[in-house]
Amino acid sequence: MTGSDDLIRQARNVTEGGLPKSPRKATAVIACIDSRVEPARVLGGEAGDYHIIRNAGGLVTDDSLRSLMVSQFHGTTAVVVMMHTDCGAMTYPADAERARLEGKIGKRISFNMHPFDDLETELRRGVRLLREVPLLPNQDRIRGVIYDVDTARVLTVVE
Ligand SMILES: [Zn+2]
Repeated sequence: MTGSDDLIRQARNVTEGGLPKSPRKATAVIACIDSRVEPARVLGGEAGDYHIIRNAGGLVTDDSLRSLMVSQFHGTTAVVVMMHTDCGAMTYPADAERARLEGKIGKRISFNMHPFDDLETELRRGVRLLREVPLLPNQDRIRGVIYDVDTARVLTVVE
């Protein structure tokens, strides 16, 4: 039995059924994959309250936009972009790692690694993009926050 077998058995015990398809708080959160960040818990919620869109960094990318469009079709009207301190996506050597992998596999990697080196600048870029992109029906309530993994405090950067 593997660790993932244990996880799947445990998941069956904790999954809540009967939750609404549209999140109760009508909010989508774009957040990092970091295990120290639990967006619903940080925002004072639980299962069924938010749509959580995650990627390395909590970045506004083409795929997070796609997920956000689906989220808004299912009732969300507000967006929180939640980045965090000590983010591994910031220190990841994206260009060097890309070159190493491309050399190893012998072909170009087609996706963008989205390297960034300043948390607040990247957060402001993401919020600005969400406010300007002509694809989203609800763009009035988009905020950007930074979650501090050491203090568990949330700093609102873009209101
Ligand atoms: Zn991160």
